[in-house]
Amino acid sequence: MSQHNDFINTIPTDLYINGQFVPASENGRFGVFNPATEETLASVASAEIADADAALDAAEKAMIEWAARTPRERSEVLRKAWELIQERLEEFAYLITLENGKGKTDAMGEIRYAAEFFRWFAEEAVRADGLITHAPASGARIIVQHKPAGLAVLVTPWNYPAAMGTRKIAPALAAGCGVIIKPAAETPLTMLALMPLLEEAGVPAGLVNVLPTSKPAEVVDHMMHDPRVRVVSFTGSTAVGRKLLKSAADQVLTPAMELGGNAPVIVFEDADMDTAIEGVMLAKMRNLGEACTAANRVYVHKDVADEFTKRLTQTMSALKIGNGADPAVDVGALVNLDTLEKVVGFVNDAVAKGAKVECGGQRLPGKGFFFPPTVLSNVPENANCVHDEIFGPVVAIQTFEDQDDVIRRANDTEYGLVAYVFSENMKRAMQVCERLDYGMVGLNRGLVSDPAAPFGGSKQSGLGREGGHEGMLEFMETQYISATW
Ligand code: NAD
Repeated sequence: MSQHNDFINTIPTDLYINGQFVPASENGRFGVFNPATEETLASVASAEIADADAALDAAEKAMIEWAARTPRERSEVLRKAWELIQERLEEFAYLITLENGKGKTDAMGEIRYAAEFFRWFAEEAVRADGLITHAPASGARIIVQHKPAGLAVLVTPWNYPAAMGTRKIAPALAAGCGVIIKPAAETPLTMLALMPLLEEAGVPAGLVNVLPTSKPAEVVDHMMHDPRVRVVSFTGSTAVGRKLLKSAADQVLTPAMELGGNAPVIVFEDADMDTAIEGVMLAKMRNLGEACTAANRVYVHKDVADEFTKRLTQTMSALKIGNGADPAVDVGALVNLDTLEKVVGFVNDAVAKGAKVECGGQRLPGKGFFFPPTVLSNVPENANCVHDEIFGPVVAIQTFEDQDDVIRRANDTEYGLVAYVFSENMKRAMQVCERLDYGMVGLNRGLVSDPAAPFGGSKQSGLGREGGHEGMLEFMETQYISATW
């Protein structure tokens, strides 16, 4: 316990502005809780509008010098950030389990993934290609180049306290932009703890600022109306994303929106069953289902549905649930009571409409927001979990017989983030992938997230892409020069 307290006492809890940890201008603070114990972990400074202004001033100043550095210099700072995180993986993973509740393996996976964005964008920073060509009619030269877009406001959710931030910070810095990040109030500590490392890596004071706040609408809206801001990059729910898109219109900001999902999984009768079970486990249980990419609806061909359900239920039942800080635990706690109650509601609704509970199904008694790995079979089409994000460790199984019918059902949603397909028949599998209205498809894989790939959704799951080559373009403005010489 005292070791735990010693660790927690090293984590900064003030705002991070201009390279300094400072209390909020009105001295307000809010509590951060451990979802596994419901105990208070820390009291964190809550930013006000005056703090947002101070952060914008700092970022504006720092960006001038940063944008003027060579791509190679920026790249080396980012690479150093990746190296420094490698030395501290255990500490970050522990901190993530404490404030988010997820298990140690998930937390380790997250911090490695989060760090990788610094390495990837260190490599991309020196590859901001342009174009030079002849205009077909006039013969003038068309010169196309990319410039830093300007200050960026970054708003992130609680489900990946490190990775959702680094996925934006790294490309923004690679592009030459300064940023102000507003982490989720549930999980601000990881982002604050990252700042001394960025400083050590050589990120200049003021270039990255962190503003936790209990007044997100007010503070973010204020920043989005400052003329120095040119980009708003948001990860979170579709409902909040819509509001930010409306606000972004006032200053015509470039919006990058990573929003909600409702991922379908299609398991064909010719799927390799080991691959399908492993893939669905990963797609569902990574981050205990609290992921925008989480498998939400599992459609299994009727010929293999019994075998699939039996094997998946065995695998899900074998998982160990408990305090994520214990390395033996597979499944940690959900982030808060609200999330837990939503999961309970989805399960009760599906059961009342005819679904069968194969395992799990009820919240665990006692302290902490624990919901066990749950498999529901025979889930009816009108169950709420078929239409909304479950965001918890619940697999909802339905069956299908016809390929066209299952594609229609998979596409029948306002979301379009990711879908998963399992089949050993590659011709058919590729044809199905191409007919799915999703920004990403996992084919015989339950994991699509990769810093080297363009992550993002179509339809109401978002706008723009994070990671890959595209990730840096979100923070750059294209300039075309028409020249004659
Ligand atoms: P949320 O939308 O409630 O909150 C996200 C962030 O927005 C938080 O920092 C919050 O404080 C802030 N916020 C809330 N209201 C705001 C407002 N009016 N103005 C400005 N900021 C505001 O989402 P959440 O509950 O933290 O996260 C879960 C959601 O995030 C899920 O829908 C999930 O699918 C989505 N998500 C998407 C991706 C993706 O890449 N597509 C990744 C992770 C999570």
